[in-house]
Amino acid sequence: MDIAAPLPPPHERQKRQAALRYSGFRIIREALTGHKGWGPAWRDPAPRPAYDYVIVGGGGHGLATAYYLAKTYAKARIAVLEKGWIGSGNAGRNTTIIRSNYLLDGNEPFYELSMQLWEGLEQDVNYNAMVSQRGILNLCHTDGQRDAYRRRGNAMRLNGVDAELLDRDGVRAMAPFLNFDDARFPIKGGLLQRRAGTARHDAVVWGYARGADRLGVDIIQNCEVTGMRIEGGRILGLDTTRGFIGAQKVGVAVAGNSSRVMALAGMRLPIESHVLQAFVSEGLKPLIPGVITFGAGHFYVSQSDKGGLVFGGDIDGYNSYAQRGNLPVVEDVCEGGMALMPMIGRARLLRMWGGIMDMSMDGSPIIDRTDIDGLYFNGGWCYGGFKATTGSGLCFAHLLATDSPHPTAAAMRFDRFQKGLMIDEKGVGNQPNLH
Ligand SMILES: Cc1cc2nc3c(=O)[nH]c(=O)nc-3n(C[C@H](O)[C@H](O)[C@H](O)COP(=O)(O)OP(=O)(O)OC[C@H]3O[C@@H](n4cnc5c(N)ncnc54)[C@H](O)[C@@H]3O)c2cc1C
Repeated sequence: MDIAAPLPPPHERQKRQAALRYSGFRIIREALTGHKGWGPAWRDPAPRPAYDYVIVGGGGHGLATAYYLAKTYAKARIAVLEKGWIGSGNAGRNTTIIRSNYLLDGNEPFYELSMQLWEGLEQDVNYNAMVSQRGILNLCHTDGQRDAYRRRGNAMRLNGVDAELLDRDGVRAMAPFLNFDDARFPIKGGLLQRRAGTARHDAVVWGYARGADRLGVDIIQNCEVTGMRIEGGRILGLDTTRGFIGAQKVGVAVAGNSSRVMALAGMRLPIESHVLQAFVSEGLKPLIPGVITFGAGHFYVSQSDKGGLVFGGDIDGYNSYAQRGNLPVVEDVCEGGMALMPMIGRARLLRMWGGIMDMSMDGSPIIDRTDIDGLYFNGGWCYGGFKATTGSGLCFAHLLATDSPHPTAAAMRFDRFQKGLMIDEKGVGNQPNLH
């Protein structure tokens, strides 16, 4: 395969890396010298004719994959192809919750690996991703729900993950503004993971992009993949809006567009695309200590550093590729909010939007090879893939580099649907509205 144009010589790369290093000292120096030393955070290269690895999708997962591939596994020629601008998909549209409070063995070690990577991410990529471990509190409203949370918390602890079961007084001490007098949805307690929290979604994308670029990855925006060239069961490269790009290996990480892109390879996935909406209120004084989820409906809320209440609920419930939702779900989400904390009715809504969710049939993701040599798939993140950005990138990079699954993602295979080995986190069978 023709690998064109050599990388820039090492001294040029070192100069560029030094110019990109962020530190307190650097900020002071730049402030005193008129901020003339900052360069673009990543390059805008033209696509080369061919690469060793091409990652399709410049969301969090695609960029993290390229970053770990370049850093951990291979000093190879790597490109990320993004049809719009990086972070224009779900990475830039989510409600930024990170957590590792899962029940099943197929999930929990993977999400805990992701959590641990979040804890070191900012130092790793030298970028402030505003990782804020302010905790997640899942409220329970019935005795049965409390039993289920106790079981989940115990499973988490067995996996070495922090979990605490709070009673009603414990919840009241943390969040006195909740509606404790509601006879219909009495708050009986909650499952708390203190190490969970939020991270700034755009900054995660930018941090990985900058880190990957520093390691020589070409991030190519405005480059839509429109076809896959496959011969004799092997992928040769991709047709794109910027011409044909050859590739030894192709990793697809396009989230809500998974079915569309994999259809280019003739594959039909156990995934449906649905809309999920998010909402942000006007800025309010600090109120919500961490992330709080309502257990008697689908509503969750946190507060951003700017003071806006960031909240959401269920998917819209119909298949769509539109990045906007409809009013019945707005009503449903607001009902959940009002039941949990009636004072939210006084807050004015500042903005709302939608993203396209890649809903798998058991609510768990897929990180796997395909039957086509050199073609790999990462998707089915439903509406919980932001928290997995770190671990997904690492595990997908491992798979691409070694052709074997990373041990913590070994259960996230295509054939689990064929074999009945689903990772059915909610225990309610196949349906596309799980997460
Ligand atoms: C409203 C909302 C709230 C959410 N809240 C949370 C949360 O609180 N916590 C959590 O863990 N998760 C949450 N999620 C889910 C999370 O955002 C996603 O699971 C995750 O971002 C998906 O991975 P990604 O970042 O790689 O996807 P994306 O950012 O969507 O990246 C995929 C990229 O592929 C590109 N692409 C598509 N087709 C092509 C093509 N043909 N050629 C080239 N590029 C292409 C797209 O333009 C896109 O940029 C939420 C999602 C939404 C919409």
